[in-house]
Amino acid sequence: MRIKTLIAGGGLAGLSCARELARANQSFLLVEKEERPGGLCRTIQSKGFTFDYTGHFLHFHKPEIKEWVLKLVGNQLKLRKRHAVIYSQGTYSEYPYQENNAGLPSGVVRENVLGYLEAALHRRFSGVNPPAAKNFKAWCLQVFGTGLSRHFMFPYNEKLWKVPLQQLTTHWMGRFVPSPRVLETIQGAFIKQASQSGYNATFLYPDQGGISVLPRAIAQGLPNLSLGVGLQKLDLSRKKAWLETGLDADYETLVSSLPLPRLAALTMGLPAALAKAARRLKATSIYNINLGIKGSQPIPYSWVYFPEKEFLFHRAGSVSSCVPTVAPKGHSSLYVEFSYGNSKPDPQALGKQAIQKLKKLKWLSSEKQVVTRVDLNLPGAYVVYDKDRDKIVAGLLDYYRKHGVYSVGRYGRWEYGSMESAMEQGIETSRKILGKN
Ligand SMILES: Cc1cc2nc3c(=O)[nH]c(=O)nc-3n(C[C@H](O)[C@H](O)[C@H](O)COP(=O)(O)OP(=O)(O)OC[C@H]3O[C@@H](n4cnc5c(N)ncnc54)[C@H](O)[C@@H]3O)c2cc1C
Repeated sequence: MRIKTLIAGGGLAGLSCARELARANQSFLLVEKEERPGGLCRTIQSKGFTFDYTGHFLHFHKPEIKEWVLKLVGNQLKLRKRHAVIYSQGTYSEYPYQENNAGLPSGVVRENVLGYLEAALHRRFSGVNPPAAKNFKAWCLQVFGTGLSRHFMFPYNEKLWKVPLQQLTTHWMGRFVPSPRVLETIQGAFIKQASQSGYNATFLYPDQGGISVLPRAIAQGLPNLSLGVGLQKLDLSRKKAWLETGLDADYETLVSSLPLPRLAALTMGLPAALAKAARRLKATSIYNINLGIKGSQPIPYSWVYFPEKEFLFHRAGSVSSCVPTVAPKGHSSLYVEFSYGNSKPDPQALGKQAIQKLKKLKWLSSEKQVVTRVDLNLPGAYVVYDKDRDKIVAGLLDYYRKHGVYSVGRYGRWEYGSMESAMEQGIETSRKILGKN
């Protein structure tokens, strides 16, 4: 079979590229190994509840991408308000932690605020430049100070990343880790203030259908989507791909949104140094337990960060707190996220911990409230930005670019990307293929 453009992976990046090629009447074949398109943006329905692969909330920074999405999805997306908090020392503090210390024990507030001021003064007078910090741990100490680091930044990030924080660079943070602001940090030590800081204070989300509304709208009416068909092997010099169906395809251009190490493993004749480097790329995985429960909304929070060791999960929340229609009337929903590294998650043990702690937090009064439980495993969910990541990724992307392959999306670029950036990369790639860029 001869194909002009072969697109491997039907998540947002692959689908967005296909949508734009279709608009320009350019032929393509999209192969997706799962039976449903959407990648991480698929949604599961169970007993009247709607669950995503953990909270998936849509926020835009680029008006042109927002317009592109709204044209496809129409008025299904509604504006929602985030209510994010941190649970520590037996109390809830508004997000971000560094600007909302009121209500914490006085010793903790003192350590946090004085530590922050000391760090801020040190930066001011010593000329220390935090972006040049040698690793994430050092950066936290320079920017947040000892108290905020010890009480939140270190334990939370250790739980999420599952690697020593000295091994992480700061290149992933961007808008994801808001730096403390002096006045807000001091004021927030005395007064409880609902904060709208951070990149996702509001977001868009549909009433019905969960986040899969988005990939479904992009995929609607697209020709040549081959679902349940994985890419198996690639010969870049002959521009030939083998599919899991046993068929092979000769392509002119290949767009891949497969995880970069997976793409490397499928590529025949990849130079040994690159193949070896690709195997060193790391990611942490997420085990996500979703509960549909009987009874009224137990918490007013969209999500809650848990830095303390007592809680094995790093984040938990309730989508029904901001989107009541994800649960049937008289019911609500909860989700819990456990991060794991090389170990295999134990669903029974994690379920037990989730129920036990949700009861302790009084989000759940009895296990009998649980109407349905949906466990979702997200292997390789968060790319680990260790000191080797940038160099390895640049080397691999350069190699693929020279061989006419566009590796795109959160895992194709091996980055900490959003839904918006996955769609943007898909659209941009279609323009390159069409010769518009
Ligand atoms: C826990 C978590 C929470 C998140 N929350 C948010 C959020 O609130 N807001 C936000 O904007 N973003 C969020 N994101 C990021 C967002 O999910 C991603 O940026 C986006 O969905 C990535 O789309 P993609 O197409 O690049 O990748 P994917 O969705 O991973 O798509 C890649 C596709 O390739 C397919 N594939 C893999 N191997 C093969 C093969 N051999 N052959 C064929 N197909 C293959 C996969 O099945 C998959 O469908 C979150 C991510 C995670 C992990």
